[in-house]
Amino acid sequence: MDEVKINLTAKDMPRKWYNVLPELTDPLAPPLDPETKKPISPDQLEAIFPKALIEQEMSGQSWIDIPEPVLEIYKLYRPTPLVRARRLEQAIGTKARIYYKDESVSPAGSHKPNTAIAQAYYNKMEGVKRLSTETGAGQWGTALSFACKMFDMKCTVYMVRCSYDQKPYRGIIIRSYGGEVFPSPSDKTSVGRSILAKDPGSGGSLGLAISEAVEDAASHKDTKYALGSVLNHVILHQTITGLEVKKQLEIAGEKPDILVGCVGGGSNFAGLVIPYMPEKMQGEKIRFVAAEPQACPTLTKGLFTYDFGDMARQTPLLKMYTLGHSYFPPPIHAGGLRYHGESPIISHLTKHEYIEARAYFQNEVFDAAKIFMQSQGFVPAPETSHAIKLTIDLAREAEPGQVIVFLYSGHGLLDLGAYDAYLKGELQDKAFSDEEIAEALKACPSVGF
Ligand SMILES: *Cc1c(COP(=O)(O)O)cnc(C)c1O
Repeated sequence: MDEVKINLTAKDMPRKWYNVLPELTDPLAPPLDPETKKPISPDQLEAIFPKALIEQEMSGQSWIDIPEPVLEIYKLYRPTPLVRARRLEQAIGTKARIYYKDESVSPAGSHKPNTAIAQAYYNKMEGVKRLSTETGAGQWGTALSFACKMFDMKCTVYMVRCSYDQKPYRGIIIRSYGGEVFPSPSDKTSVGRSILAKDPGSGGSLGLAISEAVEDAASHKDTKYALGSVLNHVILHQTITGLEVKKQLEIAGEKPDILVGCVGGGSNFAGLVIPYMPEKMQGEKIRFVAAEPQACPTLTKGLFTYDFGDMARQTPLLKMYTLGHSYFPPPIHAGGLRYHGESPIISHLTKHEYIEARAYFQNEVFDAAKIFMQSQGFVPAPETSHAIKLTIDLAREAEPGQVIVFLYSGHGLLDLGAYDAYLKGELQDKAFSDEEIAEALKACPSVGF
């Protein structure tokens, strides 16, 4: 195969998302009410989510139609290319074949519009006027602000303070799309005000920003909340990437041996690997390997247990790998990977040994980003660079001819502050120590089973 880029035409774009839930022999543990510790009922979620998304969250249907208006907006950037990274292969001297699925070509510059567009659409259909959300590095806020504009809705974004300060350009894009953005902790919510009272200089965390966005939605009738990762419906929407990859590899005449992605809440990685779950469950030899930061090593060092999704203990309890909802990860530059938990689907599949994970330090991640840039030319996001580091390691370990596909989750053109710190030798390689993990995990609630 001489082709460098494998493109699909708009008419080849998948028209259904793939839902893995009915496939699981051992079903997911249900979300629990934080008060009663009993499984939560769908109507309890209606204060913050539209009915259609709650239905998808628990759906028993394997294939779900992508609504026509969502397909129309997808067509602004989908299908996305699958690229053979031949120059990267040469640079690292591997005989493995490396491909990447390029989700950086979306308007927001990441995979996140795949679910933002769908979520805005379903909310619009149910009469919602405004969406509130949190954002870490700013990519999710950008994606949702764009998606809300497509459906003529308002958007309010609570952005983790340390990213808000490190990455002012994301806030500018969010505002240019018509959204509003506040640094979190903010004085707009009671949870934000209480943290500010204790620590006016708080850098914030995703868990805290989620608390603020949920409080905003729950206290306004015309407003609902949107989450950019973790939940089953988000992962459902992201499967469009893996479904496209399947078609593209078929065109290339390739079968994948290893699928790779970085994990924050787990949605881009899940989108790539989940369409391959049926093959994997039938015993085909295909590895799913996830990369995460040493500073937030949820899959490699966390506990598989029920925990809150946010700091203020407002969300339902989810059974997942977690570092404890009170954990404030050190302010590393891959802001999108600073979440204490992990999606229940990815957690479940990791517990059942379908998924492997490795954790990396910032400097080795940026070393890998530099190799990629200097061979392929594009500037990857710091999050994406975790997947690149892992891909390079796996390619060096691989048998000749093995096929590795990684998800290129976003570009790094708005992360140049991080590249600058790396080039000046100012990046710190902070790990999360075993003592800190043990301490943070004490905060996980006991649910009695
Ligand atoms: C948000 C983000 C991630 C991490 O989120 P997941 O839900 O784990 O995919 C990774 N890469 C980029 C570029 C992101 O914007």
